[in-house]
Amino acid sequence: MKILVINAGSSSLKYQLIDMADESVAAKGLCERIGIAGSVLTHKVPGKDDYVVEAPMPTHKEAIELVLNALMDAEHGVVKSTDEISAVGHRVLHGGPEITESCVLDEHAKEIIRKYFPLGPLHNPANLMGIEACEQAMPGKINVAVFDTTFGMGMEPYAYLYGIDPKYYDKYGVRRYGFHGTSHLFVSGETIKFGKLPEGKQKVIVCHLGNGSSISASVGGVCQDTSMGLTPLEGLIMGTRSGDIDASVVQFLSKHENLSVDEVLNILNKKSGVAALSGVSSDFRDLQAAAQDGNERAALALKAFCYRVIKYIGAYAAAMDGVDAITFTGGIGENDLGVRREVLSHLNYLGIKLDEEKFGTRGKRVEISAPDSKVRVFIIPTNEELAIARETVRVGLS
Ligand code: ADP
Repeated sequence: MKILVINAGSSSLKYQLIDMADESVAAKGLCERIGIAGSVLTHKVPGKDDYVVEAPMPTHKEAIELVLNALMDAEHGVVKSTDEISAVGHRVLHGGPEITESCVLDEHAKEIIRKYFPLGPLHNPANLMGIEACEQAMPGKINVAVFDTTFGMGMEPYAYLYGIDPKYYDKYGVRRYGFHGTSHLFVSGETIKFGKLPEGKQKVIVCHLGNGSSISASVGGVCQDTSMGLTPLEGLIMGTRSGDIDASVVQFLSKHENLSVDEVLNILNKKSGVAALSGVSSDFRDLQAAAQDGNERAALALKAFCYRVIKYIGAYAAAMDGVDAITFTGGIGENDLGVRREVLSHLNYLGIKLDEEKFGTRGKRVEISAPDSKVRVFIIPTNEELAIARETVRVGLS
């Protein structure tokens, strides 16, 4: 059984065809510059050279057609016809307060995605374009939506409500949702499986540290809390996002810099975070190299990033009245040993002991805590596409 996973952005579309027999990637690729001159598709099949197609993609419809052609191409393809694709799973950013589960896409589900355009103004419209393009290209095929927000729907009202009048929740759905939900769901679940965490010992903190970063606390795979909020701006300091900030800063900067609220929000989302703190880059490899060379701002940015991760871990251990496992994932979580060391060196109070031989493992599943550690520590690479494919099978085909 093969599942096509689609992640449609406003001008790009990523895809993976996953063979569920062994959960391997049969083919994957990326359409870039959709709706812009110079559109290009890069199609990758393991063990083969990349297949690059430069062709106009005025809309997502043409992009999907090119993707299907590449998947069925005589030389570079991996299927003979779309009949071999059992279903399509779509990453969708926002399901609002109504969607608590992945779902088969029908008119009602699409209506909800449309309804919450205001909560995901960049992503939801693009996600819907990807869905409709697949419906047109493969009529009758089962399409499933997997929402980035569903994991956060596990939170109780005391965790998801802001300290503001709940009428804003009732009227507009203003609450904390959390994002990277597919990753947190996958990684917390894999932590329980890989670590064979017994029932009653499944309090897990997942640190998803990448360009966008977030932390979650979950008990038995159900989200208790997660650091992103109404939008992905809340929580950790990120590549270019400020993370938690006093809302009054918006008013202050608006007044003193003569900027609109939208302009300040643009700064907080795109021109802040470690990139702004360091003045060097949003990329942690650049930051580590600069810090090594004595760049003090880069060192400060790294310290500030880690400090907030440390604070959130402490808060979540308290919120769950304990923690059984802490897992690192995402490009930084899986690879950056400096961040890993700095964060873990502040968790002695949890009784964490490390296995120094395994500590330096990068990019693969490993337990890096010692057998007598009170809290177990894991590295588990995230795989959002596989998580979406599994959800597509669970919801759409069984
Ligand atoms: P995204 O949120 O775009 O999926 P990723 O999870 O790929 O982001 O993470 C990107 C971040 O991971 C970048 O800051 C990058 O520097 C960092 N990263 C990736 N590989 C390494 C590595 N080997 N060492 C340190 N940092 C790394």
